[in-house]
Amino acid sequence: MSALRYPFEPPGCNGELVDVVPGCIKWLRMPLPMALNHINLYLVRDGAGWRIIDTGFDTRATRELWERILPALGEPITGVVCTHHHGDHSGLAGWLTEKLRVPLHMSRTEYFAMRLSRDPSLNSWEYRAYFRQAGLTDEQVEGFAQALSGFAMHSPPAMAYRRLRDGGELAIGDHRWALRAGEGHSPEHIALYCAELGVLLSGDQLLGRITPNVGVLPFEPEANPLEDWLASLDRIAELPDETLVLPAHELPFHGLRTRAAELQQHHRQVLDRVLEFCGQQALTVYGLSRRLFSKRSDTIDTIMAIGETMAHLAFLLAQGRVARTLAASGSHEYRTCGV
Ligand SMILES: [Zn+2]
Ligand SMILES: [Zn+2]
Repeated sequence: MSALRYPFEPPGCNGELVDVVPGCIKWLRMPLPMALNHINLYLVRDGAGWRIIDTGFDTRATRELWERILPALGEPITGVVCTHHHGDHSGLAGWLTEKLRVPLHMSRTEYFAMRLSRDPSLNSWEYRAYFRQAGLTDEQVEGFAQALSGFAMHSPPAMAYRRLRDGGELAIGDHRWALRAGEGHSPEHIALYCAELGVLLSGDQLLGRITPNVGVLPFEPEANPLEDWLASLDRIAELPDETLVLPAHELPFHGLRTRAAELQQHHRQVLDRVLEFCGQQALTVYGLSRRLFSKRSDTIDTIMAIGETMAHLAFLLAQGRVARTLAASGSHEYRTCGV
C-alpha cells in the first residue's frame, strides 16, 4: 500500500475548471453553506458533450455558477449522474435536468430517498423521539428543527431517472464505468470506476482528508450503518491502489487502499474510545458525542455528531459489547459490558 499523494491544486468555487484527466475529465467546485464549505463536481467527456457528476446544493450561488459555466463550456451536457441523494450531490438534479432536458442517472434507493427527503424538518413524533432518546431536551430539539428548516430544497425534483445498480456499467463516451454500490454513508451510494482510465469517481465513499459521515438517522433509529460501511470499504479496497481517486470533497488523491484502511482504523479507534467512556459511566448519545467530537459546534455538525455516535454505539450494541437502558428521563443510556 502506498502513501497518499495529492497531484492537483484545487480550483476556486468560482466556475474554474481543472483538467484532471486531460480531454476527458474536468474538476470544478461549488460552495456549500456549512462547515464543509465546498463540493467537488466533475464533467466527463461524452462524445461531443459532457456528463455532469453530482450537482451541488440547491442555492442561488450554485445556480448562478451553473448559469455561467454551462454556456462557457460551448458543448452540450448529455446527462446528470448523482452518486447519492444528499443535498450537496443531488440538490440541483431536478433544476439541471429540467433546464437541459437530459436524463438523470442514480441508484433506485438514492432516487427515491432524494424524492422523499426534500423537507428535512423534524415535524414528526418519530424524529423528535430519536433526539429525545439521544438525550436532548425539548428546547434543543426545537432549535434543531428551526435550523434544519433552512435546508429544505426549493427547486422541483427530477420526475424520472435511469437506474444505476451495483455490478452494472455506465458507458460515457468512449469509456465504460463499473458501478460499485456502497452502504453506511447513504443507502445505495454509487461509485464509478473506469479500469481503462484508472479513475474512481468515489463520491462520498472515499475521501482523502476527511472522514465521511456514518450516522444512524431519525427515520431508521435501529440501523447499524457502521457494519455496512466497513464492509463497503473492504469492497472498494479491491480496486488497484494506483487508481486516481476523484472524491466529492477535498483533494483528488492516489493511495486508495491506504485511505480505505485509514478510514477503517479511524472507526476502530472511535469504537475503543466509546468503550472507554461508557466504561467510566453510563452516557447518553448526546453526552458521549460531546466527549468524542468536542470540536463540533454548529447545529448541523451537532446533529451529524449525534448520528455518528449512535452508529458506533449500534455497532457495539449488536456485538453485545455495550448495553442500553431507557432512563426515567426518556433518554437511552449506554454502558460498556463487563466492566
Ligand atoms: Zn453524502
Ligand atoms: Zn458529500
